[in-house]
Amino acid sequence: MTTDRPSHRSPREPVAPAAPRKPTPGSGRESGPTPGPTPGPASGPGLGVFDKDLLDRCISCGFCLPACPTYTLTGQEPSSPRGRITLMRALESGDLAPDDPTLAEESSFCLGCRACEPVCPAGVRYGALLEQWRDHQWRGRDRPLIARLLMALVSRPALLRLQGLVRRHARPGRRPGAGARAGTGAPQATRRDAPEAASSRPAEPVSLMLGCVERGLYPAVSRAVRTLRPEVDVPPGQGCCGALHAHNGDSAAGAELAHALGERLPGTIVTTAGGCAAHLAHHLGRGRVRELSEYLELTGHRPAGRVTVDGRPARVALQDSCHLRNGLGVTRPPREAIAAVAEYVELPNAGDCCGAAGTYSMLRPADSRAVLAPKLAAIEAADVDYVVAVNPGCLRQLRQGLRRGGSRVRALHLAELLALAAAGEAGGSGGAGKDRGEPEAPAD
Ligand code: SF4
Ligand code: SF4
Repeated sequence: MTTDRPSHRSPREPVAPAAPRKPTPGSGRESGPTPGPTPGPASGPGLGVFDKDLLDRCISCGFCLPACPTYTLTGQEPSSPRGRITLMRALESGDLAPDDPTLAEESSFCLGCRACEPVCPAGVRYGALLEQWRDHQWRGRDRPLIARLLMALVSRPALLRLQGLVRRHARPGRRPGAGARAGTGAPQATRRDAPEAASSRPAEPVSLMLGCVERGLYPAVSRAVRTLRPEVDVPPGQGCCGALHAHNGDSAAGAELAHALGERLPGTIVTTAGGCAAHLAHHLGRGRVRELSEYLELTGHRPAGRVTVDGRPARVALQDSCHLRNGLGVTRPPREAIAAVAEYVELPNAGDCCGAAGTYSMLRPADSRAVLAPKLAAIEAADVDYVVAVNPGCLRQLRQGLRRGGSRVRALHLAELLALAAAGEAGGSGGAGKDRGEPEAPAD
């Protein structure tokens, strides 16, 4: 069942530029840098920080401004995609010194959400430009300490494996009695598969990526995937996919880690993290990487059961993953999966960044909360029981925000919601919620 679902703006549909708002009082940016003239494409050889073709693509039309969360917060041109591209050009041409504080500030203030890409009529690949900018801006000790620590942590597979000893994520190896046909690695039918699903199942092995954050923080997510799709294998020895590195100024390590993980995970890679999906797809090829909801759809999986609260269908909203939506254009499958087991409620700002943005919520907590605030308000106004995330960073951000605000709404990962629905059907209880004030959610 789907209600309250206005036709949300397609990520590829340009929007007209809006007048900038006044800076948010108390944001600390009221006296930020003033917009200067917008230079055109950089001429001459430049510093070589950026791919010149990418940098020259921007036509300074400003269509991206209303889509940008940081511009919405400040109303300041340098905090907009166009303004940041102007700064990149000034850095490249030498018009701004590399140690100019505006460069440091704006390269950090940007969420990297890529909401500016789908609305850009010139096809500017802003995410790639931002990676190149941070490769230059955040070299060595200029990289924020928290980012350095996290990158060092997830680069050590032994430490990642250690998480599995204390947190019960899905285990490597196939589930007994389920999974591939002997010797082929091909998935087989499960009890809840629709008959037509069997014919559309991939013939190749399918590997679940555990994720370096998710396996430690939300191990129930990978377990839920195994419950839903037992044919999905969990190969051992998985490292980080490298998205963390690419977004924090080390895109070379980000590429290296992506390829190393690709060698560890045979066949199709299924991930429950939208950000990792976009990063892996960029390096390993789009056809090889599937976010969970995409994979379920492609294999003809029909979500079973219902999630109910007080005997009625639970009202469930979605928080898009920025990179899944803006990078890979995936918006429909998670919505349809939710609508199959609950009453789907479209939030007016479902596609807007929640402020998690990888390390952003740790590096810039005040800005992160400011970005999250309208999201939380919309969730409360929608009177939903659950809000579903398709990325662990978003899940953490939503859970913390809802808890801080004393909300009764619970945040779940899509895999958890679908497993909850299926378990309700299997157990014959027909419901997940105990009462309206305390919806029952699986705990990690
Ligand atoms: S990034 Fe795209 S939408 Fe934004 S100003 Fe440049 S060309 Fe226009
Ligand atoms: S990535 Fe997000 S925050 Fe950064 S310029 Fe683009 S829309 Fe704005």
